[in-house]
Amino acid sequence: MSIIRVALDVPVNTLFDYLLPDNEVTGEDVGARVCVPFGKNTLTGVIMEVLAHSPIPTQRLRTANRVLRDVPPVPKNVLELFRFCSEYYRHPLGEVVMNGLPTRLRSNKPFIKKTRNEFQYRLTPAGRSTDLSAIPPRNIVKRRLFGRLKGQDAISMTEAKEISSRAAGAIKEFMATGWVEEIKVAPGGCVFEESAPLPVLTPPQQSAVEAISAKTSKFNVWLLHGVTGSGKTEVYLRLISLLLRQGGQILVLVPEINLTPQLEASFRARFPFIRMVSLHSGLNSSERASGWLKAQQAEAQLILGTRLAVFTPLPKLGLIIVDEEHDASFKQQEGLRYSARDVAVFRAKQVGVPVILGSATPSLESYSAALDGRYIRLRLPFRAVKNALMPVVRYVDTRRTKADDGLTAPVIAALERCLALKQQSLVFINRRGYAPVLLCKSCGWTAACHRCASRLVVYLREKQMCCHHCGHREPIPNACPQCGDQDIAPFGHGTQRVTATLEERFPDASIMRIDRDSTRRKDAWQQMLKDIQEKRVDILVGTQILAKGHDFPYLSLVAILNADASLYSTDFRASERLFAQLMQVAGRAGRSGIEGDVLIQTEFPSHPLYRAFQKQDYDALARTLLEERRSAGFPPFMYQALLRAEAPEISVTLSFLSSAAAVAQAPEEIEVFDPVPAQMSRLKGMERACLLVQSSSRKKLQAFLAGWRLRLDTLPSRKVRWALDVDPLEF
Ligand code: ADP
Ligand code: ZN
Ligand code: ZN
Repeated sequence: MSIIRVALDVPVNTLFDYLLPDNEVTGEDVGARVCVPFGKNTLTGVIMEVLAHSPIPTQRLRTANRVLRDVPPVPKNVLELFRFCSEYYRHPLGEVVMNGLPTRLRSNKPFIKKTRNEFQYRLTPAGRSTDLSAIPPRNIVKRRLFGRLKGQDAISMTEAKEISSRAAGAIKEFMATGWVEEIKVAPGGCVFEESAPLPVLTPPQQSAVEAISAKTSKFNVWLLHGVTGSGKTEVYLRLISLLLRQGGQILVLVPEINLTPQLEASFRARFPFIRMVSLHSGLNSSERASGWLKAQQAEAQLILGTRLAVFTPLPKLGLIIVDEEHDASFKQQEGLRYSARDVAVFRAKQVGVPVILGSATPSLESYSAALDGRYIRLRLPFRAVKNALMPVVRYVDTRRTKADDGLTAPVIAALERCLALKQQSLVFINRRGYAPVLLCKSCGWTAACHRCASRLVVYLREKQMCCHHCGHREPIPNACPQCGDQDIAPFGHGTQRVTATLEERFPDASIMRIDRDSTRRKDAWQQMLKDIQEKRVDILVGTQILAKGHDFPYLSLVAILNADASLYSTDFRASERLFAQLMQVAGRAGRSGIEGDVLIQTEFPSHPLYRAFQKQDYDALARTLLEERRSAGFPPFMYQALLRAEAPEISVTLSFLSSAAAVAQAPEEIEVFDPVPAQMSRLKGMERACLLVQSSSRKKLQAFLAGWRLRLDTLPSRKVRWALDVDPLEF
């Protein structure tokens, strides 16, 4: 008999041994999925090792049901990556492994995929230039199929049938219209073509491309620090092209699923026939599994995805790109709390390939690594498009110029000018809903969520209030529940209120609100983007959704309302985030030749952060913030871990954290702080608190966490949910 050691999706930090007859398993099966009995259930796990002996007596071991060989095993270097994450983030290995697999492969149903050597179907040039709107909305199958063909080089009939059983008919019709053609491809084979002519690189782009090209077979972290509009994408494209010619696979990570279609389109436009897959949460489980498999079998050359894609097996990995590396969405905030950016760096090092971290406002962690010489910084200091200048930033002092319904006269005047010139403007307010608070003017009562430590946001048209943390909704009351007065009213401004004000002020303008509420419907955001790019919108009102990475060629004015709240936050990362956000939003303006203006309504126009922003001087601010962090003992000069705990009663939470502190047995180099309430001290009825530990040595912190985690596992924790968060971004 052989022993297999299996990773299972259970919350204990151990692997499980099972028996299998010698003729049913070999060393080749390491990384294969396996079905095993567990308690009364059958679970699917991954074979981590095949052994001759187990420390557990054979008679106590159970026999595994069967090894699944439907797909090739997870390669050794990915298993190693899982091991690294499990150790670094102190998270059970079984959960890490299973979390890294696509959902479809976590089940015990075999995965059947037959796409090799099939005919493939792809869009013809006529099909590529045809818009999705050419297909009537009621034709759901055709629309989905067409959308899929647009996003991919070619698809097989099997894949088409994953979309709908009626796909074959639709493909036939597309072929009859001349939109789709049939091609026969050899496995893995495909033509490499690059669309021409390529833009002439700016000198900084040129040096960046040359620097990285000279070292493509070596691990280095390249920090591509380029102002908004400096053409980072073009640098990526050149390096992708080089790597594709060398036969390598390229992994591109983006912070948000919303950003994938745009990058996908630039990649597709440049390399029409490469095999590209997208991996993100918007796909259904078979689409995701099939993309993952194509990557694993090196059929996909370019893999574009959100954070989870960092775990995709890539046998020919040659380059990793992390776009907008400073973005907090790369950090997973539940379960395995990993940073995809940091895992990407580890992965590049593991296989000895370059990794590019791109940003206009690098995280202070990456920035300081570049100052230390651990990362290599490449600067793109100006915009790539001829004559496109950085926007001019001005402040409207709201202590002197009062705002009327949230908007000051200079902002209104600027919007008017923009409308007259038929240019677009953007009003940025990072708060959705009508108003953030419902307030009683007689007694000061405000509507709060009964499950969370938060206020309810007012939705006037819906006559509802909603908690943005737990989703709880209730109707707006007619009178104050505390004093009975009817003088209750929305207080403050959200996107809906600003939109309403502007609609009243500019009845002829076309105004579009863009926030998580208005983009919730699938594909809504893509349609809105198109309306903006085709100039059917005059004024955009939106939250940070708008800030990220999009190119709005007609936008010349950005007005920023209510940014002050983050200036005096207790979170030491708030300034860094605010600056990044301001740079991002401002960066949308004036990208293609028309001059850009940025107006900020603030009570603190001379705040150092705003001054640095006015000069668009990231370096000055970064150095100041780093100095502050050094003297206050914060990251990146300290390494932190947070023990988070929550329970229905705060006393239970705190007593758990106290026992945790008591078993810390921390050596001198480790600081253990007192438990404090979490930033959201109550969420969904749970009282939350956390305990911070830190050290100036990452290694020592890691050594300490290893021992502490074992002791934490033995603490009584009835009714308490707890988790360790290594390198936390939030408190
Ligand atoms: P970033 O990602 O750095 O904000 P983008 O990659 O979106 O910037 O590029 C901004 C604009 O500049 C795009 O419209 C792009 O087509 C254009 N661009 C990039 N490189 C060049 C170049 N070398 N010459 C002319 N235009 C360029
Ligand atoms: Zn009242
Ligand atoms: Zn709530």
